[in-house]
Amino acid sequence: MPNSAAKMHSSTPATKTLRDQVLNYARERMELDPAPLDGPQTLKYLKAHASGTISEKGLGGTKALKVFEEVLAPACISTDHPGYLSFIPTAPTEAATLFDLVVSATSVYGGSWLEGSGAVFAENEVLAWLAKEVGLPKTSGGVFVQGGSLGNLSALVTARHSAIQERKSAGKKIPKRWCIIASTESHSSLKAAARVMDIDVIPAQVDEEGRLRGKAVLKAAKKAGKGLFAVVATAGTTNFGIVDRLDEVGLAAKELGVWYHIDGAYGLAGILDPKVKQLFKGSKYADSFIVDPHKWLFTPFDCCALVYRNPKLASDAHTQHGEYLDTLTDGGEFNPSDYAYNLTRRARGLPLWFSIATYGVAAYRNAIAENNAVAQKIAAVIRKRPELTLVREPELSIVVFEKQGWKLSDYEAWSQRILMEGLGFVTPSSHQGKPNARFAIVNPRTDVKLLTQIIDSMDNK
Ligand SMILES: *Cc1c(COP(=O)(O)O)cnc(C)c1O
Repeated sequence: MPNSAAKMHSSTPATKTLRDQVLNYARERMELDPAPLDGPQTLKYLKAHASGTISEKGLGGTKALKVFEEVLAPACISTDHPGYLSFIPTAPTEAATLFDLVVSATSVYGGSWLEGSGAVFAENEVLAWLAKEVGLPKTSGGVFVQGGSLGNLSALVTARHSAIQERKSAGKKIPKRWCIIASTESHSSLKAAARVMDIDVIPAQVDEEGRLRGKAVLKAAKKAGKGLFAVVATAGTTNFGIVDRLDEVGLAAKELGVWYHIDGAYGLAGILDPKVKQLFKGSKYADSFIVDPHKWLFTPFDCCALVYRNPKLASDAHTQHGEYLDTLTDGGEFNPSDYAYNLTRRARGLPLWFSIATYGVAAYRNAIAENNAVAQKIAAVIRKRPELTLVREPELSIVVFEKQGWKLSDYEAWSQRILMEGLGFVTPSSHQGKPNARFAIVNPRTDVKLLTQIIDSMDNK
């Protein structure tokens, strides 16, 4: 018999029952096709129905699970529902979701080679494949971090660290202020990273199609001065899915002698669709890139792949030293923690590894191509409707359109109504101050029929 303190950690008849209950719950949730869309509840409702779960004695697993199943889970929108089209949803494959359970059940530590070599090896196989698709050399490498925001921050910290080292070894002065160039359409996480790093973001104008071009980078560089250390291109903007001219921006960064980072959190996965692969031409110039498998590589939250052309520069910038850590850092082995702003880490790349190992890369190419095809088809439906206007021609899998005469309040009322009906989740977006509707299609179960239904629902006010 386990001692009383170890009861929670031991395989007793009571934990066997709980294990069955929880795994059955997970199984049933996975078998729903689709799971209900669900929606947010008020704080008042949740207080009334789910308070008092934290107590000295505990509720027991059966009761706690019941609270989750009946009150808490239905108060969370299912991001894998085919009608979830806001922000960037996620639609994990069956294999990826299943393996997320395994990552927990096996208590893998993903931060060091010593502790997690098997997991780290598998994660690195996936990173090497991504690097190859993007066109980076075999010597590149990196780490799966929590999300794109942390990926961008970690890449920029590496870039600045390298700039400092370079200037020092060349006997040059260290500038008082550092800055990066990013387009006006780039993601808010870059500004957030800049705040953390206490650097400036010099905005570069996009062209008429919303794309950052080489010339605009060179123009912005004149304002940037000596503190410029990186240029960031976006491979698939979050608003429209527009891919910057990665080739021109990369060459401009080279001309300026600064780091080239590609933020491909949402869109870089599009490189797997042969039909649009040419949009990503020039990705091979990147010194670092990110792509979020939790966005468009069908992986559960939370997962961002961060890859460096020269990983040594990243470990120089990020490795944490400490008495209890030196045994890890002195060995010369590959420790994922050293490549980003993180130490303890879940082996969050494993679900993606298992999923790709299960289905093969070709299935991923297919699924992404299918999302892009659905975007094109629904764009064609929108074009045919006189009361609707596409705000831009979709390039990847994001479709943005306006309805004639609609104010923000019309979009809001419609959005709330279709969420309540369980049809879809489409929050209003806006462009240049004008409200619009936006579909982000990353779920292979999102089809033209459902999207047409959602568009039709705009008419029954
Ligand atoms: C979503 C997104 C991010 C931020 O990624 P998180 O995983 O949400 O932190 C950064 N850049 C782009 C282009 C994005 O679409």
